[in-house]
Amino acid sequence: MMMNNTNCVRTKKEILFHGIPASPGIAIGPVFLAKAKIRHLENNTARTITEDQVDAQIELFRNALEMTRNDIKVMQSKMQSSIQKRTADVFAAHLLIVNDRMLIRDVEEMIKNQKLAADTAFSNSIQKYITVITSMQDSYFQERAGDIKDVATQIMNNLKGLANPSLSQLPEPAIVVSSDLTPSDTAMLDREKVLGFATETGSRTSHTAILARSLQLPAVVGMQHFAERLEEGDRLIIDGYMGMVIANPTEETEELYRTKMAQKEKLYAELRKESRMRAETLDGYCIRLLANAEGVDSFDQLQEYGAEGIGLFRTEFLFLNAAKLPSEEEQYQVYKKIMESLPGQPAVIRTLDVGGDKLDDALFSFREQNPFLGMRAIRLNELNPEILQTQLRAILRASAHGELKLLFPMVSSMEELDHLLELVKQTQNELRQKKIPFSKNMEIGIMIEIPSAAILAEQFARKVDFFSIGSNDLVQYSLAVDRTNERVAYLYKPSNPAILALIKHTADAARKAGIYTTVCGEIASDPVFSALLIGLGVRELSMPSASISIVRRAIRQMSFYDAEQLAQKALHCETAAEVRSLAQAYLNQAAPGISGL
Ligand code: PEP
Ligand code: MG
Repeated sequence: MMMNNTNCVRTKKEILFHGIPASPGIAIGPVFLAKAKIRHLENNTARTITEDQVDAQIELFRNALEMTRNDIKVMQSKMQSSIQKRTADVFAAHLLIVNDRMLIRDVEEMIKNQKLAADTAFSNSIQKYITVITSMQDSYFQERAGDIKDVATQIMNNLKGLANPSLSQLPEPAIVVSSDLTPSDTAMLDREKVLGFATETGSRTSHTAILARSLQLPAVVGMQHFAERLEEGDRLIIDGYMGMVIANPTEETEELYRTKMAQKEKLYAELRKESRMRAETLDGYCIRLLANAEGVDSFDQLQEYGAEGIGLFRTEFLFLNAAKLPSEEEQYQVYKKIMESLPGQPAVIRTLDVGGDKLDDALFSFREQNPFLGMRAIRLNELNPEILQTQLRAILRASAHGELKLLFPMVSSMEELDHLLELVKQTQNELRQKKIPFSKNMEIGIMIEIPSAAILAEQFARKVDFFSIGSNDLVQYSLAVDRTNERVAYLYKPSNPAILALIKHTADAARKAGIYTTVCGEIASDPVFSALLIGLGVRELSMPSASISIVRRAIRQMSFYDAEQLAQKALHCETAAEVRSLAQAYLNQAAPGISGL
């Protein structure tokens, strides 16, 4: 149908994109293509030169590198004093790319030997890097590819004498669309003019997601090949609650969204007023709602949304963005800060969970065929025991400052757990000998995210204080569906009855042993799953803080009795779709006010 942007005639087709909801809220406005310039890298027409132009082209290339180095340093110093040190560290990584000897040699040799113009040689060379990195199908490398593209674009623009536009130059309030938003984009961000973010790469743990949440701007990330379907001036709607973006909406859609926006904003404002209320079912059963956290920058929001503590602190953030492994002292300061920001509340600190493929080449120079089945999380201990030992010392020291709980990811066998518990004991002995304080009552839990761990839950329950179900991985490993592969995403169904059976088995084993079960995977934030999980025996839910208010409302309007009945019925279903529709029907009936969200 014919449609329109602001006042002009709308001639473009409405397109709906699905992504990952990274920060709640709705924004409507024109698009600002922050990374449109990346196309210079890809569509660069090959230009050749003559022998006598070689030196000048090499000089041009070196000057462009020097200008880029200077730009990065300026941004680095701005960031040092503004957002956080950790983000500023990323610029150190950017400098490494600009100073990469192999890259520089490759480009200069192409100029000399193949007589290519500097921009053509650079484009060819950087494309090779980007292709290798993006083919790695892993969120860490996807994010690093974003860094490389970011720097490469700056170099290319400097080569071509183009200005490097930044987000400070938004001509009007707009929605920023980009492959990813890197620190160099955000360093000069004009808060007044940015209505929201929509990016092609990234996950809920990417820079964009963190930044958007801390700025309270709606954001949707992870929409592959999305930017290339947009043009400057296109109109966009981003729905950060649902993870949807609509390009060139019809007038009807826009109107619909404006109404929705008003309704949702009103509902969320209402929900926030309930933030001090308990998540208690109609028949008096209380559930603890906690927040997942990836950095130390979002703690104010925990209070605002009424989180009762941190249910999952993903420590990998300290490692992945750092130029070197964080020391015991650096980690201790971060964990201590967490405990001090949450007086009287618990915080679950999870030991490092990265795959071998996500680590720095300098430390682990290997590649794996199946990284998700390889050297990930606690398994890295086999290669470098020092990493876990250092982290355990830091975590145990921080346990002296509050109700810290230690969580081990990716446990698949009793041998692993026994070894980990032995390491904790050794660390405690070491601290005791050195008279360094730590809590003697610190709870220790394991993630239940590998099917063998769920199956052996009874045995594990005798040795730990709590279970935390990592549904993101439990679904991936139980259904044999790579959680990052969009081709098999249609099979990634947390409502598969097999997953429910594993959750039930885990929660039953915990209850029998007198310990409790938390769910900290993404399903904990979906109100459609609330009654199911509670009915299956889950006692705590940990989720991104912005989702807490809606889950609290779902719980306050359900009964525990109904939740148990629903779970029983769902366990006997044959398909994921049947389970989902049962759960949705219950939510519609129990909490009609939120079921449409
Ligand atoms: C999970 O697997 O559900 C989980 C919470 O951990 P992560 O997403 O960090 O693997
Ligand atoms: Mg996991």
